[in-house]
Amino acid sequence: MAKRDFYEILGVDKNADEKTIKKAYRKVAMQFHPDRNPDNKEAEEKFKEAAEAYEILSDADKKARYDRYGHAGMNQGGGGFGGGSMNMEDIFANFGDIFGDSGSPFESFFGGGGGRRSQSRRGQKGSNIRIKVALTLEEIQKGVTKKIKVKKQIECNTCSGSGAKDSQSVSGCGTCGGSGYVRQVKSTFLGQMQTTTVCPTCKGSGQQISAYCNSCKGDGTTYDSETIEIDIPAGVEEGMQLSMRGKGNAGKRGGPKGDLLINIEEKSHDHFSRDGQNVIFDMFLNFADAALGTSMEVPTLGGKVKIKVPPGTSAGKIFRLKGKGLPSVQGYGNGDQLININIWTPKSMTKEEEEMMEKLRLSDNFNPAPGNNEKGFFERMREYFN
Ligand SMILES: [Zn+2]
Ligand SMILES: [Zn+2]
Repeated sequence: MAKRDFYEILGVDKNADEKTIKKAYRKVAMQFHPDRNPDNKEAEEKFKEAAEAYEILSDADKKARYDRYGHAGMNQGGGGFGGGSMNMEDIFANFGDIFGDSGSPFESFFGGGGGRRSQSRRGQKGSNIRIKVALTLEEIQKGVTKKIKVKKQIECNTCSGSGAKDSQSVSGCGTCGGSGYVRQVKSTFLGQMQTTTVCPTCKGSGQQISAYCNSCKGDGTTYDSETIEIDIPAGVEEGMQLSMRGKGNAGKRGGPKGDLLINIEEKSHDHFSRDGQNVIFDMFLNFADAALGTSMEVPTLGGKVKIKVPPGTSAGKIFRLKGKGLPSVQGYGNGDQLININIWTPKSMTKEEEEMMEKLRLSDNFNPAPGNNEKGFFERMREYFN
């Protein structure tokens, strides 16, 4: 049977670069991977075919030869796979390292997590720490630096994180030969699969310790607290999460540090509530001020501001103080302060006040009528959102 074109198998063109070829192989291999297609002979053949194509196209020399001579070129000079198709063992053995170290080749290779290459060779990574920080609206408006004491695992001072009593008590790990990783061959019904896993003896440190550090008993970490300065940008909101790389728990035996994750909370404010970047202030006017107009001071996040209340101001009117709200966390644009007008109605009155009110009650100007009517709630909302 004539062999299919390698580029066609992976669905790439002749000018595809290394990265594109790898990506294409990953896609095809994922589609026909035996874990996903148990007992499917056709899928297995396709999986092998893709591996063969990738074997050639991922190697610059072989690719050049293939480009020049086609499949005929693959039969010369040994090596390669010109002589016949690969078996499953070859595939997993040859590409074992890109199938990753988690023991599940599928996940680590296809999950795109970076695999073992991006990990530190030493020790186990420390875990992340999650803390909550509650902020006032004033702090959110300006941004703030918080010093927070965080209890966590820190690198042991006595052994500098190695976990060993002294340098004489450290030797290379016999199980993995110091690499921190071991290869395992698993038998599956489709043949043997080779995976790379963290060495069970040294947990990836590549070292064996004959005498442990007295302070940390070999962990390389001790429990303590550290005061961490956290720069919180202006404009954050409840539910946002910030992270600081490497500020979490120290890793065991010199492993990389985890991260500090900071969850933002908002404290409730005496005067204001928040609506996105806008700050809302409920203001109460007395009848007379609302009817006659006045000027008064209102609080803002940046201090008091004087505003004019025009005569004939009714309940539900919204004044806008431009730019007195909160900044956007991306750093452009400011929200406004919205002043929501309410009318204060007295709960009790003197005899005189009652008499005055009785007179006003009869006045045409004090009664809603066509021409006197204010805009209703929905109309005001429409204006507000436009
Ligand atoms: Zn120690
Ligand atoms: Zn080891």
